[in-house]
Amino acid sequence: MSHVLHRSLTQSYPTAVGGDGVYLIDAEGKRYFDACGGAAVSCLGHGDPAVIAAVQQQVATLAYAHSSFFSTEPMEALADLLAEQAPGELNYVYFVSGGSEAVEAALKLARQYFVEKGEPRRRHVIARRQSYHGNTLGALAAGGNQWRRQQFQPLLIEVSHVSPCYAYRDQLPSETPEAYGVRLVAELEAEIQRLGPEQVMAFIAEPVVGATLGAVPAVPGYFKGVRDLCDRHGILLICDEVMCGMGRTGALFASTQEGIVPDLLCIAKGLGAGYQPIGATLVSQTIVDTFRNGSGFFQHGHTYIGHATACAAALAVQQAIAERGLLARINSLGEQLQQALEERFSTHPHVGDIRGRGLFRGIELVQHKASKAPFEPTLKLHAKVKTAAMDAGLMCYPMGGTLDGRRGDHILLAPPFIMEDRHIDELVDKLEQALNTVF
Ligand code: PLP
Repeated sequence: MSHVLHRSLTQSYPTAVGGDGVYLIDAEGKRYFDACGGAAVSCLGHGDPAVIAAVQQQVATLAYAHSSFFSTEPMEALADLLAEQAPGELNYVYFVSGGSEAVEAALKLARQYFVEKGEPRRRHVIARRQSYHGNTLGALAAGGNQWRRQQFQPLLIEVSHVSPCYAYRDQLPSETPEAYGVRLVAELEAEIQRLGPEQVMAFIAEPVVGATLGAVPAVPGYFKGVRDLCDRHGILLICDEVMCGMGRTGALFASTQEGIVPDLLCIAKGLGAGYQPIGATLVSQTIVDTFRNGSGFFQHGHTYIGHATACAAALAVQQAIAERGLLARINSLGEQLQQALEERFSTHPHVGDIRGRGLFRGIELVQHKASKAPFEPTLKLHAKVKTAAMDAGLMCYPMGGTLDGRRGDHILLAPPFIMEDRHIDELVDKLEQALNTVF
């Protein structure tokens, strides 16, 4: 009997004992092609010698020093690198241990910014339905995933939710993608007006939506419209790139692909690639200047801020991605993957849509292609796909449909950047085997 409080109390999990490049290995010696990086984490695959060496060296030198006593070399070096890579005036980095913490920090940075700026009435956050920003209470409040929120609702701060940008289901047949984007920005503007612009502090969104929609990029112009709207009303724009950032979509920061720079940018998963738990919130010069000219202090903090070993791991991961030219391969590998998925599955009666950007791809499963009717969530189709894929030696990341039936089950693919062309066939073959088992 396991004494671990696992996610599921009814399921038993194989024990992962090793990692080898694009594969995870369980205690029985079975190898799984890791086509989702867990949840878009393991972008450098498993067992990377350069990262292992960096972690070993850092642990031997200095594993940890509390950030209220010391700065550390790896923390400074990683912040320098990220600030140099980040667009616009995102010149500061606040380190945390994961994605939810990065979002919590962004929300608190936004709130404190307005308090210090003399606009304490600004407290409302606007987010999007069918979004996920993490599981801590602040991040959960921002998220719009009803299934995750339901029972915790009484504990959550009030957040307004507007429509996500989800062309496959919500763009009208009479609309161009651009016109659809304009309509969504108008909806956001109406919500800002309803709340009173002087009371709104931030709008938060994922540039390419991961877990809740399944690798859905916005339509052209949508994020530019959002940025303009936020600027017009003095509202901060938070981009949650916890899943889609750090190269996953073919650019280090997905928001740059939309031609915008947010005021706060959250990253995590691909930052440390799973070698250590780490996340970060990139913060604009304007926000930091406001703090500097005000209290001189950010009223927040966790014990593991800027953990030296975590920073050393992330630094080694990011250096490996740069030195090995992996970013340049993501777009071409992503195109090949999209093509292979379309060739194999576009005529499948239960595949409604195949989409994504870079090495971030999603497949939406439907009952009927023409009507796009989703399967009943009670069928738990996504769980069946996950089990069948694991049986076939494949890790993919399936998610259930929404409770309101506004989205079907989907399969998220986020394979490691080190994958080779031949791995695309392996991925698609194993996925086909899994889908054949389920349907
Ligand atoms: N934001 C997004 C977009 C995510 O996808 C996730 C996790 O899946 C989070 C935040 C929360 O990150 P974590 O699970 O590391 O707390």
